[in-house]
Amino acid sequence: MSARTPLMAGNWKMNLNHLEAIAHVQKLAFTLADKDYDAVDVAVLPPFTDLRSVQTLVDGDKLKITYGAQDISAYDSGAYTGEISGGMLAKLKCSFVAVGHSERRQYHGESDELCNAKVKAAFKHGITPILCVGEGLDVRKAGNQVAYTLAQVEGGLADIPAEQAATIVIAYEPVWAIGTGEVATPEDAQEVCGAIRGRLAELYDQELADKVRIQYGGSVKSGNIAAIMAQPDVDGALIGGASLDADEFVKIVRFAD
Ligand code: PEP
Repeated sequence: MSARTPLMAGNWKMNLNHLEAIAHVQKLAFTLADKDYDAVDVAVLPPFTDLRSVQTLVDGDKLKITYGAQDISAYDSGAYTGEISGGMLAKLKCSFVAVGHSERRQYHGESDELCNAKVKAAFKHGITPILCVGEGLDVRKAGNQVAYTLAQVEGGLADIPAEQAATIVIAYEPVWAIGTGEVATPEDAQEVCGAIRGRLAELYDQELADKVRIQYGGSVKSGNIAAIMAQPDVDGALIGGASLDADEFVKIVRFAD
């Protein structure tokens, strides 16, 4: 395994109200507590409405679980009804924020330019962006997955200085594998994750590229995580559906056991 600490992040999407979130994080913490898991960073990305409850729990019980949001506004404040700013997320001590998840790109028309503005907003407020990239089925069938995904990486990272880029997390999530039960083969995941690291080395330098954590996402489960994590350029996973089952999520976190 590389020197990069793997990051297992659960994207709850629009699931679990704040009471259910408390019960879920408590179960997660209890199940994780039976054994140390220092070798892996664990994060949950609940809906905005759960963040305060999760913060209280994590702070109060000194849990090693970190948390973040699923989206961030590109703006700091003002007449942007329904938006949540980086300052608001920082006040809730969010460590992470997902940027450009394929569901945001697909249902909310988020462009690479907007994702780039959101990456900048996250860094401005001291929050680590998890920049989500990945191709749809048509692109994959045409064999253009690498070029397509690298263009998203470049778009998201435009004008991001090296000291910030070194701390970003990039999640490679082929859209055809998200929520479909169809997981990319470990080789598919490695092909694109390796290409992302290569492009980071070109955009910045190899030392920086070697620091960045690149996750795979798309129908990750306890049964397929070990093979995916065995790939040299995969440093964790962004987990949707399976993160809603605490026992299953913990098995994913303990993939090396
Ligand atoms: C996701 O939401 O980022 C995701 C990868 O979902 P799933 O694990 O359900 O495919």
